[in-house]
Amino acid sequence: MTTSAVRSILATVVLCAVSLGSQAQDAPPPATDPAQFQSCLRNLQGSAAFKTITPATFANNTAGLQPDPSVLVALNHQPEFSIPVWDYMAMLVDKERIANGRAAFVKWHDVLERIRQQIGVDPAVVTGVWGVESNFGQNLGGRPLVRSLATLSCFGRRQSYFRGEFAAALRILQEGQIPPDKLNGSWAGAFGQTQFMPSTFFRNAVDFDGDGRRDIVDSVPDALASTAQFLKNAGYRSGEPWGFEVKLPPGFDTTGAGRKNKRPMESWRRAGVTLVDGRPLPDTLPSAGLLIPAAGGPTFLVGRNFDALYSYNASENYALAIALLSDMIAHPDRAVVVVTPWPTDDPGLSRAENRELQQRLAARGYDVGTVDGMIGTQTRAAIKQAQQRLGMQPTGRAGQKLLRALQP
Ligand code: CA
Repeated sequence: MTTSAVRSILATVVLCAVSLGSQAQDAPPPATDPAQFQSCLRNLQGSAAFKTITPATFANNTAGLQPDPSVLVALNHQPEFSIPVWDYMAMLVDKERIANGRAAFVKWHDVLERIRQQIGVDPAVVTGVWGVESNFGQNLGGRPLVRSLATLSCFGRRQSYFRGEFAAALRILQEGQIPPDKLNGSWAGAFGQTQFMPSTFFRNAVDFDGDGRRDIVDSVPDALASTAQFLKNAGYRSGEPWGFEVKLPPGFDTTGAGRKNKRPMESWRRAGVTLVDGRPLPDTLPSAGLLIPAAGGPTFLVGRNFDALYSYNASENYALAIALLSDMIAHPDRAVVVVTPWPTDDPGLSRAENRELQQRLAARGYDVGTVDGMIGTQTRAAIKQAQQRLGMQPTGRAGQKLLRALQP
């Protein structure tokens, strides 16, 4: 299994979390023959990947287990809708998450300071990851991991990858790291406040409260320290910022742009690049790449720590959401997430505005599913109908124009 294949799965997990809310209901579930499932489990038990799993652990956790076809629907789901970066930021870095982040930052100050001293990762960055990954522990995912991973190990197109994760999940239970009834997560098996895959857990999880268990589900100190350890292992450099919003001089040639094309700060200075407010670029980063998420919108210089955030989920927009949220958490006086507006005349909606949109659509008789602030398949279908009736382009996208059209 290549790293890129793993990354594509993780990126899908995030995309599903953001764009679907609940699983898509449009495709029928693939066939999952119970006899085939039982025979597959027996074969797995005898295979090399499961050699550290005792017969008792295997039997106790798989007795009476039925496959879950809905995880295969999620695995095969092709997002029909690509989310503009400004919608992504409007939802992931909204007022609610910033306020919750600032509160969490204060509440967990002592733990975060110990993490800074012992692991060397900025407390605001750790808090930012926590907020985007699980909304500060509010969204852990409710699917039993063993059932999801056993299904994905026996059916579908990524079986060899998921077998490793299934074995790691059983090892977590065998070692008593997490109680069986707490080992729940996303359809793909990401779990806990940090949404680690089971193999990621064994590479990065830390027992920070000293009770002998690495409990990233119920122990906030364990979860936050594990996040920091993940970033450290991904190359995070203590004391460096992730980057900053910048201003390009008129006529700047952006052909060499890209997170990976790092140049010394002096080279950017010579090219006329400044901080967004016009001040000179600081010396806090040795080198940086130019990140342009959308032409004509905010532009950033990003360093090695942005790459560490990127490795959390292999998405630049995702890493940028964490980065911008962490800045808003670290600077309570800062009023705007980005200074340069996103290049759109129809900005995206916060989760609160998504809920308002869903309520207003429901009040007009549209079926939006659950009013949860997540724009899933059902809400998107309702949006299309409403747009059509209002004489708007039926894109299915939730934006400010539609919300205003529905407001009294
Ligand atoms: Ca612990």
